[in-house]
Amino acid sequence: MRVSVDRDLCIGDGSCVEVCPEVFELRDDGLAYVILDNIPESLRDKVNEAIEICPVEAIRIEED
Ligand code: SF4
Repeated sequence: MRVSVDRDLCIGDGSCVEVCPEVFELRDDGLAYVILDNIPESLRDKVNEAIEICPVEAIRIEED
């Protein structure tokens, strides 16, 4: 599974990092980045949680 963050939408509130630090990090520009290329199935629930909690719907699953 691949995941993306639309940084034109991201407001850097860090919710995704709190929910799933294995996949997301906030960088110096204050925006969220995906730190894994191929995300294991075991993290799917946490990624979905991040998608749900993101206030601007910036996170998407690109590929299963
Ligand atoms: S939850 Fe959404 S808005 Fe907040 S840092 Fe993550 S991607 Fe950006």
